[in-house]
Amino acid sequence: MRSVIVVGGGISGLAAAWELRGAADVTVLEGHTKVGGKLRTGTVGGIAVDEGAESLMALRPEAVDLAGAVGLGDALCDPAKAPTTIWTGGALRPLPAGHVMGIPADPADLAGTGLLAPRAVARVAAEEHLHAAPLTQDCSVAAYLGVRFGQEAVDRLVEPLLGGVYAGRADRLSLRAAMPRIAALAERGGPLLPALRRMRAAADAAAPAPAAVRGVAGGTGRLPQAVAEASGARVLTGTTARSLERLPGDRWRVRAMTGDGTLTMEADAVVLALPAFAAAGLLGPHSPLAQEELAAVPYASTAVVTMAFSRALAPFLPEGNGFLVPPVDGRTVKAVSFLSNKWPWLRAAAPDSFVLRASVGRFGEDDLPGRPDRHLIRTVITELHRAVGPLGEPVAARVTRWDRGLPQYEVGHDERVRRIREAASKLPGLALCGAAYEGVGVAACVATGRAAARQVLA
Ligand SMILES: Cc1cc2nc3c(=O)[nH]c(=O)nc-3n(C[C@H](O)[C@H](O)[C@H](O)COP(=O)(O)OP(=O)(O)OC[C@H]3O[C@@H](n4cnc5c(N)ncnc54)[C@H](O)[C@@H]3O)c2cc1C
Repeated sequence: MRSVIVVGGGISGLAAAWELRGAADVTVLEGHTKVGGKLRTGTVGGIAVDEGAESLMALRPEAVDLAGAVGLGDALCDPAKAPTTIWTGGALRPLPAGHVMGIPADPADLAGTGLLAPRAVARVAAEEHLHAAPLTQDCSVAAYLGVRFGQEAVDRLVEPLLGGVYAGRADRLSLRAAMPRIAALAERGGPLLPALRRMRAAADAAAPAPAAVRGVAGGTGRLPQAVAEASGARVLTGTTARSLERLPGDRWRVRAMTGDGTLTMEADAVVLALPAFAAAGLLGPHSPLAQEELAAVPYASTAVVTMAFSRALAPFLPEGNGFLVPPVDGRTVKAVSFLSNKWPWLRAAAPDSFVLRASVGRFGEDDLPGRPDRHLIRTVITELHRAVGPLGEPVAARVTRWDRGLPQYEVGHDERVRRIREAASKLPGLALCGAAYEGVGVAACVATGRAAARQVLA
């Protein structure tokens, strides 16, 4: 049986270990004291809450399928139905149903929402009549959609969604990598609106539309542990890989730091399931090109502020699943999830509490997540008061910081990933996976992890 060391016990590395079950002798090295990386469930006031990812995309199957395969099928659940809501211009305003990353299929649906001024709505509708040659090279989301729909649409419809998913900015993020569905339409040429209308009609005809995302009762953070157990891999937590050595016969040696000292292991293959900057450090001696390209992937830091309010004491409780905030509105908070409204399991687990979480920090706002806990908590309470009304004081609060937590897929990202993968392919027995490559969502990470496993087996 081949031996494989997986470096990184986030969902990408664990998916790789799971894919290798029965086919290889697998050891997972994880620097943190627990597996899971950005999938982590903690507690606030004794209530289990997700501190990182809170949902699994269901429009692509990989994460939901994996959850089912490792015994969490019965725990999968849908969020409460509610429109995506934007806090802009001093009010909460729903995005039209069926939008694609903020772009509505029918601009008429924007009328009356107050999201855009009437002239900006007319500008969106005019897209249908603008010539659109097929897109031949990558460009920023703002560059493409600004020309097609106008700057106000980018600022108030698209930016808040990009902030929520990538903690990124429309003028830096790649259209191809961050909005692949829109990019695919753009590459065909022709206006986007008729194509979006056809997509929407097809989705409506296939009713009932499945939920776009699903959760796990008890917390999405349950998934990594379940995958680790089902993989049968040896999992060494508190073990940080420090160097990688290539041995004769295309074998690999990994040196790691543990709480007790150092650990040296050898294997037939290595999967690096790490953030790009961490993979860059290990790959330097073997592929300066891969190191340089990996080190050039920028990251955004964010913080998640989770708060529990007493239902009995709160003067008021908001409805809906939460809201997103465009940067043009000048707020600190970029997204709020009303977890107790959104996830029925959480409401059932803590019926007397109202739990919400707010995120702060987009790319370029690196100082923000590092501010003291009390400052972040106070800012969130103040802005929530302005957005929805007075919630009073939380009975418990927790700040989780994700330093360099989200890779930024900047213009040219696909090409950069192609160069990284080409350079890594010259190192037999080594595979790369993780959020830095073909998608930041959990489903995409699972896909890269499983693909990396198949690569080292082949
Ligand atoms: C706040 C937040 C909210 C999110 N929400 C969602 C969401 O709702 N839905 C969604 O689909 N996605 C969401 N994402 C994105 C998604 O969670 C991540 O992209 C994904 O979990 C990354 O998984 P990964 O395994 O590639 O990387 P990571 O989770 O970063 O795992 C890498 C692991 O490697 C370990 N490590 C690093 N260096 C070493 C080393 N030298 N040796 C050993 N171990 C090492 C780390 O400790 C870590 O555990 C969110 C991300 C963040 C930050």
